[in-house]
Amino acid sequence: MKFKQDYFDQLSGFYSQVTPQGLPRPQWLAWSEDAAALIGLKQPDDELLKGLAGNQAIPGASYYAQVYSGHQFGGYSPQLGDGRSIILGEAKGPQGYWDVALKGAGMTPYSRHGDGRAVMRSAVREFLVSEALHHLNIPTTRALAVIGSDLPVWRETQETAAITVRLARSHIRFGHFEFFCHSEQGSKDKLKRLIDFTLSQHYPELSLDQAGYIAWFNRVVADTAKLIAHWQAVGFAHGVMNTDNMSILGDSFDFGPFAFLDTFEEGFICNHSDPDGRYAFGQQPGVGLWNLQRLAQALVPVIASDDLIAALNTYQHHLVQAYLVLMRDKLGIKEPASAEQDEADLQLIGGFTQLMEANRLDHTNTWRRFTQLDPNSQHSSLRDDFIDLAGFDTWYQAYRERLGLVSDVASWQAARAQVNPKYVLRNYLAQEAIIACEEGNTQPLAELHRLLTRPFDEQPDKEAYAKRPPEWGQGLIMSCSS
Ligand code: AMP
Ligand code: MG
Repeated sequence: MKFKQDYFDQLSGFYSQVTPQGLPRPQWLAWSEDAAALIGLKQPDDELLKGLAGNQAIPGASYYAQVYSGHQFGGYSPQLGDGRSIILGEAKGPQGYWDVALKGAGMTPYSRHGDGRAVMRSAVREFLVSEALHHLNIPTTRALAVIGSDLPVWRETQETAAITVRLARSHIRFGHFEFFCHSEQGSKDKLKRLIDFTLSQHYPELSLDQAGYIAWFNRVVADTAKLIAHWQAVGFAHGVMNTDNMSILGDSFDFGPFAFLDTFEEGFICNHSDPDGRYAFGQQPGVGLWNLQRLAQALVPVIASDDLIAALNTYQHHLVQAYLVLMRDKLGIKEPASAEQDEADLQLIGGFTQLMEANRLDHTNTWRRFTQLDPNSQHSSLRDDFIDLAGFDTWYQAYRERLGLVSDVASWQAARAQVNPKYVLRNYLAQEAIIACEEGNTQPLAELHRLLTRPFDEQPDKEAYAKRPPEWGQGLIMSCSS
């Protein structure tokens, strides 16, 4: 790995240097070839294992934990930071630089009461979801590998420690800006330095002045809105949308008790620490805006409030437009010509999701049915899935009217298969792979990972992975403790 150290060199005072606590008897549990290629790595080998397990210094790496704060479940936590993640620097790849971080490599000054460790199940889940979202064409941080060990760690029960090697275009979060705005260690100068750093690293086309700052915040609003549109379209619940888990670049970030929907449910909650459903699936669009408002508040010392408010006011538009593009594609309907058509399409989409919810249908499998639908036929192959047949018939008639005659049904169906995935990371599938890892068998994890790199392809020998969860795997609710 070849590193540059821009964050480390240019932002002293924005992190603490740390020494990783290595993992005894480390072993590779998972490896992503695609992610490895991003930083020019080919094969996992023993030297790399020692380095990424934190047992041996990697040449050129700096080891540091970033400081930030954030709004957690609505309340402000003034002092957070990388409590169990250590960044090595920005590794050079063929198409740019990626932060490399060891998540679970021991305590840092920000660990508070935690042990700085990650348990194997959470490391595996983060690995799988990062790679799965990427192959679903959703912006996300990536995962290079999971390294397991026999080091015992205590959560509700005894588990073993592991490290996820995370790759991120940036680890800068909304919470970084909140920290340097609100804390005693912060100042307008530091906030400005952080903004300038973010712009020069990631938005080189923007100038480091008011005009550039305003354009940048508008981009953050748009990119966050687009990310959340993706989550809503694919049926992904993040679970802990605290502002310290929001990437400034609009990537899916910092995974804990996330879930892909099985049965479609707006109110679906995947985090057992969230009984009120603050981060329920259907709440995510609103939370995205709330989080952007917290970010805007933190930027007030540097960017004029009127400009921040004007940018926030575009959120709804970006979200709806991005959502419409994705959902029209899933339904196979063409772009409209008017604002009235947008409104009508939202009604049509909402009508379908309400029917799915009322009929307790599986989100992924129901959408996948559009790949076999003959939309020119009055008799829909979808109909049999619904209990409310009258409701479905009314919706289907409206849908066919909107669609018009499809001239080439086979290519229309093939196009639907490119946007309605067959395979998603259902919680029970992750759970099965984790149980096998606990028993010393990493094969099911490798197989699941491989499957999820081609989520839109029919994989005839892998039909079982597209099934709804068995009884034990229904409504699995994950804890934050990881
Ligand atoms: P999260 O909900 O995973 O985003 O974590 C919130 C905060 O708690 C972050 O600042 C983490 O670094 C910290 N944290 C979570 N788990 C641990 C742990 N096992 N040890 C130290 N810090 C942790
Ligand atoms: Mg976090």
